[in-house]
Amino acid sequence: QHIIEMVGVSKIYPGGCVALRDINVKIEKGEFVFLVGPTGAGKSTFLKLLFREELPTRGQIFINGKNITRLKPKEVPYLRRRLGVVFQDFRLLPQKTVYENVAFAMEVIEASPREIRRRVPKVIEMVGLSHKMNSRPHELSGGEQQRAALARALVNNPDVIIADEPTGNLDPDTSWEIMKLLDEINKKGTTLIVATHAKELVDAMKKRVLQLEDGRLVRDEERGVYRCET
Ligand code: ADP
Ligand code: ADP
Repeated sequence: QHIIEMVGVSKIYPGGCVALRDINVKIEKGEFVFLVGPTGAGKSTFLKLLFREELPTRGQIFINGKNITRLKPKEVPYLRRRLGVVFQDFRLLPQKTVYENVAFAMEVIEASPREIRRRVPKVIEMVGLSHKMNSRPHELSGGEQQRAALARALVNNPDVIIADEPTGNLDPDTSWEIMKLLDEINKKGTTLIVATHAKELVDAMKKRVLQLEDGRLVRDEERGVYRCET
């Protein structure tokens, strides 16, 4: 059984924009997958369908064998806690410290205070941010903010991490560090789906590459590169 499967998935936004056209794809547990393609190709839409921020117009989406297009509203939080999401702009809560930002993700799912005290420092250490645990986002560099966001995404032990342009606001060296961290997380067993424009990183990492163009899946390659030269 695949951890993610899309069958005949299309997305047409109100107004008529066709963002995805008949996508068929299977992703196995433990894979690291890059999603590439020019702006407007449908990458963000692809990711939003996975965490049910959007519903497909046609087709089925399965996560761990469960059809997420048919979830009841009360089942959606259960899906979301199995997924960790990371964005280009970090989306940390500005008034909260790193510790509090990460702890908040556990409070939302009503973890016990004891479990939170045990788990939060461990995850912050995993992303290399122990020395900044009590800092607020504005006191952190971009790379540190993204590490904090990753800790928050990881804290509830998700099956999948979904990252939309995670290095989009970072300089090349910092982007490398974040990509290496994602690779370490993947090697511990978490499935990763990363939408990115970072050509050099995609080429160097030699992971599976899904390429979207104008809403179509035009390439699916093991150990792919950002874009084949023509
Ligand atoms: P990418 O992430 O590859 O840049 P998107 O998934 O953001 O692509 O966008 C795919 C297409 O869908 C684009 O033409 C975009 O303008 C359109 N689109 C995205 N979100 C919406 C929306 N909420 N309403 C209408 N059109 C949208
Ligand atoms: P945005 O989604 O922010 O509008 P752009 O499409 O403008 O992103 O590209 C962001 C960065 O990725 C730019 O620096 C651009 O040079 C690079 N990039 C985009 N498409 C390609 C490509 N096909 N090959 C190489 N680099 C690309």
